[in-house]
Amino acid sequence: MQDNPIKIAISLGANLGNAAETIREAAARLESSGVRHCRLSSLIRTAPVDCAPGTPDFLNAALTGEWSGSPEDLLRLCQDLEVAAGRPRQHGINQSRPLDLDIILFGGTVLRTPELTIPHPRARRRRFVLEPLAEIAPDWCFPEDGMPIKRILKDLKG
Ligand code: AMP
Repeated sequence: MQDNPIKIAISLGANLGNAAETIREAAARLESSGVRHCRLSSLIRTAPVDCAPGTPDFLNAALTGEWSGSPEDLLRLCQDLEVAAGRPRQHGINQSRPLDLDIILFGGTVLRTPELTIPHPRARRRRFVLEPLAEIAPDWCFPEDGMPIKRILKDLKG
C-alpha cells in the first residue's frame, strides 16, 4: 500500500448486454473495492473503432478517483471486474465485450512492463476515451509532456 493516494483515471466501455447498467455497476464496485472519491462521467454512445463489420456500438465512460495500492493491484481489480461482468479472461483484441476497463492515468507514473503500459498507449488518439475524461478531468495532464486532456482532445478534433 502507498501512503499517499494516487489520482487515477480509468476508461470504461461495453457493447454487449445491458452496457449502461454494467458500467454503472463496475463504477460502484471500483468504489467499494478501494477507489476513493470516484467520479463517473456521462455515458456516451460511440461507433466501434478497428472492429469487425457488424460490431454493435459501444457505450463509453471515464472514471476518476484515488487509489492507494500499486498499478498492478489496480489492473488485477479491473480484470476481476471484467471477468465478473462475463468477459472471458483470455480474449481477442477489439472483440465485443460486456466490459472493458483500461487504466489511462496513474498519477504522474510512466510505466512500460509486459503487462501494463501507463499512460494507456492508445488513449491520446481515442475520442471515446478523451471525451468523457475531459468532462470530469479537463485539466489533468499526461505525464510525458504535461499536456492537459482538454488540449489533447481539442487537437484531436481539429
Ligand atoms: P484489453 O483487450 O484492452 O482489455 O487488453 C487487456 C490487456 O492489456 C491485459 O493483458 C493488460 O495486461 C494489458 N494492458 C496494458 N496496459 C494496460 C492498461 N493501461 N490498462 C489496462 N490493461 C492494460
